[in-house]
Amino acid sequence: MGLQSPLRCRAYGVDHDGICLLIELGVHRVLLDCGLSDLSVLQRELADHPPDFVFCSHAHNEHVQGLMQLQTCYPELPIYMSEVTLTLVAANQDSVALPLNLHSLPWRSPIQIPHSPLQVQLFPAGHLPGAAAILLTYSTPERTYTVLYTGDFCRTNFRLTEGLNLESLRGAAPDVLILEGSYGTTQYPHHRQQEKQFLAALDHQLSQGRSILLLTPALGLAQEILVLLRSHHQFTGRDLDIWVDEPIAQVCDIYLEVVSHLPTAIQNFARHQPLFWDTQVLPRMQRLNHPPILRSGQSPRIVVSDRWPNWFTPSERRTEPWCVFWPERELQQLSLNPEQLESMPYAAVSYCLTEHNDGPNTLQFIHNIRPQHLVFMHGSPQSLEQLTSLVELQNRYQLHWPRPQSTVEFPLGDRFLQPSPPFSQPYLGEIQETEQHITLRFPANLTIAPQWLEFADTGMVEARWQGNDFCVQSLSQQQLSERILQAAPSPNPLQCVNCQHYRRHICQNSQSTLYQRSVSPEGYCSQYQDKSVESEGLG
Ligand SMILES: [Zn+2]
Ligand SMILES: [Zn+2]
Repeated sequence: MGLQSPLRCRAYGVDHDGICLLIELGVHRVLLDCGLSDLSVLQRELADHPPDFVFCSHAHNEHVQGLMQLQTCYPELPIYMSEVTLTLVAANQDSVALPLNLHSLPWRSPIQIPHSPLQVQLFPAGHLPGAAAILLTYSTPERTYTVLYTGDFCRTNFRLTEGLNLESLRGAAPDVLILEGSYGTTQYPHHRQQEKQFLAALDHQLSQGRSILLLTPALGLAQEILVLLRSHHQFTGRDLDIWVDEPIAQVCDIYLEVVSHLPTAIQNFARHQPLFWDTQVLPRMQRLNHPPILRSGQSPRIVVSDRWPNWFTPSERRTEPWCVFWPERELQQLSLNPEQLESMPYAAVSYCLTEHNDGPNTLQFIHNIRPQHLVFMHGSPQSLEQLTSLVELQNRYQLHWPRPQSTVEFPLGDRFLQPSPPFSQPYLGEIQETEQHITLRFPANLTIAPQWLEFADTGMVEARWQGNDFCVQSLSQQQLSERILQAAPSPNPLQCVNCQHYRRHICQNSQSTLYQRSVSPEGYCSQYQDKSVESEGLG
């Protein structure tokens, strides 16, 4: 332990205002993201030794906003990213500005950096289309060194972004893991559950005759919400107008250019109907380029915006009842605060659709990756303090929480014993018996096991006696749907007209032999799914 190491990290930006870290590998230097709004310190320090290249993890502003300025200082400096990130970043730059030296790298292929002992490999990180984690490998005659940087990441599947796949990185055991801790140790409900609560809240307000101003950041969450409204059975077929403010609409247009990179279910959906702009299939979705149109007609509508719209005046709010939805976790990206929202004379509802790994997911990720050094960034001081004070991390890894303009050294033992996986022991639990319930209690470190996520996916289990043993099994989404159907037989006859996948006499279920065929309302196939049961995927 404590041997001389060629690895060092200099932190320039580590919070939501802008991420920027410089990794040193011997004489080589790599800049991880450049989300600073002020580059003066960075420029001063890099002046006589610019980095070999820049890696841009994804297109959110706090990771890219300094790229243009950096490129102006160093026009030759290559900037690497995924193909989708390149499309998103390039579309966002001023077209008359100098051409950026941007290069896209393929997924999961080790790429040798020309004339250098550095190799890079990109992995889809979830969170946002194109978001990437990077594995840096530095080879010397004595030893190979590895650094894994996650950028923003999420293991949950969203509608437009598949979650980070742990399998591709399991046991990577890098010398250094740099990861975000946005949500600290907080645990959130399963994503489908969050969506359900969100839609129920919208539904409730609409049914009260209120129109909705839905506030969301323009890139990422906005598109997730729009596709959710377009594809979830609770809203499909509904006679409702959804108006989308221009900054969000422009990002939607860029998404349409990269549909072939989005999850298969979305590609299938987009083959049958427009992903966003549609005045035919309900609910209608249109750009809000004529705000006065809002005043015609009285039925409730949804307006989706990334800012407080200037037409949203007190008189507008007087002519019809409005309700404002604001995102609990992303409020800082909207330059509004909860007090402002709550002090105003209309109904305001917060919603929670998480975009980053929550606490249990972060811990599970770390224990599967098994680094020697662990560097936390990108979180509030409270969040990062929660994580760095966990004994289960302190016991296994060397923890770092760099402050801006500080340098972290990574002393490496060349025969450092990687911690062994902690999952092989049996779990000691406790039985609590009351008149109404039996509760089995286990220590929370149960969630560290790689199987936990799948086990806890739906939050439902099934147990049965096997001799004297009581065996608990998790229920998958499909098993759960089957149990619900068995428990409460559908009130609807098993006919196409009552199926989730039936749209205007056409079957939209790619699993069905009737797929894309014209079917009669009385038809039926073995893939029938009752429309009163929530669907897991997209119609
Ligand atoms: Zn992000
Ligand atoms: Zn971020």
